[in-house]
Amino acid sequence: MEKYELQKLRDLPIEGVAERLGLQVTRHKCLCPFHDDRHPSLSFKVSKNTFRCFVCGASGGTIDLVMKCLNKSFLEATRWLADENNVILQTSATTHHPSDIIHQPSFDASRYEKYFERPFLNDEARRFLFDERRLDPRVVRWCHLTSWKDRQGVPWLQIPYYNQEGQLVGVQNRNLIRGALPRFRFPQGSQCGIYNLPVLNLLKPGDALYITEGSSDCWAMLSAGHKAIAIPSATLLTRQDKEQLSTLNSQLSTEFHMYPDRDEPGERLFLQLQRVLPSLVHHQLPPGCKDFSDYFLTFYRH
Ligand SMILES: [Zn+2]
Repeated sequence: MEKYELQKLRDLPIEGVAERLGLQVTRHKCLCPFHDDRHPSLSFKVSKNTFRCFVCGASGGTIDLVMKCLNKSFLEATRWLADENNVILQTSATTHHPSDIIHQPSFDASRYEKYFERPFLNDEARRFLFDERRLDPRVVRWCHLTSWKDRQGVPWLQIPYYNQEGQLVGVQNRNLIRGALPRFRFPQGSQCGIYNLPVLNLLKPGDALYITEGSSDCWAMLSAGHKAIAIPSATLLTRQDKEQLSTLNSQLSTEFHMYPDRDEPGERLFLQLQRVLPSLVHHQLPPGCKDFSDYFLTFYRH
């Protein structure tokens, strides 16, 4: 793994990582998961992006926290962090740079555009999109979803990210083998921020725009007949994404809606977004549905 990629994982906000791990952070402190803790003794140092428990002495950075909490090896922990946060990891060492240079490659759209012009869905992709997720084929076409198999025969769903002008700015590959790691892969330099921006060109004054967490909830929302965009994940909402949303809020005469995931990070994300989109309307998922995809599937149950 390249040095700059490890640094990206080390730079993920540590309190956000802790929350993804299920710890409840209040005023830079939480109950220590590594000893029988009654009063929060684990504290976070935001300036250094580290944690330390002053009772049992556990300490470290983001990767250490994941290794300890989930009992994972260093490599497993980095993969978990990358998957949870859509961080791009280069799995092979095809590009070698002197280790002291922080190198950020740019995205070569011309290499990928052709795949999305003539989408092809293999059996695994059709099973995932239509049998498991019950998505509307028109949505799958609109999103230019396609599929491929790598040299090891692993099937991947290939998800293009476009800007509002319709230019390809990034690609997300989703592993179609359930439970397999890595769950996602991104070509070099992919900008996978806000998803489905071209839908904004179809918005009519007064239309509702739904905001989902992740592309797959976005497909479910579109299949349910709503106009929707997706943001990557609660911990990865960047300042750039927030600025873009804030601009949309001032440009569009649109009402923003959201069904937050039924968990702590979901609600926290809603509150974060509400600061940028003050009129954001909260919808409650019914009990037993953890996200909108889940809820969408209940439309098909008798
Ligand atoms: Zn402790």
